[in-house]
Amino acid sequence: MTATATANGAIRRTRLTQHDRILAMLRAYPEGVCGIRFLENYMPTYSQRIGELVRVKGYTITAIECPYGHHTHNSNIGTYQLVEGINAEQLQLEDANG
Ligand SMILES: [Zn+2]
Repeated sequence: MTATATANGAIRRTRLTQHDRILAMLRAYPEGVCGIRFLENYMPTYSQRIGELVRVKGYTITAIECPYGHHTHNSNIGTYQLVEGINAEQLQLEDANG
């Protein structure tokens, strides 16, 4: 499990774990992961976490229309696709090793 210590020494696991879980789901389903799937996996704040992955960690995640015709949810629930490539997190790792 990944964890980082904050300034006051507390260990923040939950947010990192959700980032890791979202990335794992996006990588497992390159055709896209419907928001409903994140809700089913107990991540009601998935859209905020995806926003953090994009803005803070530099991942490229695009939103498309849900391609699963059997889903009956509102059309404003997006399906997310991860575009793999160099991102800020990977660059930081390379900097740390160099
Ligand atoms: Zn859907």
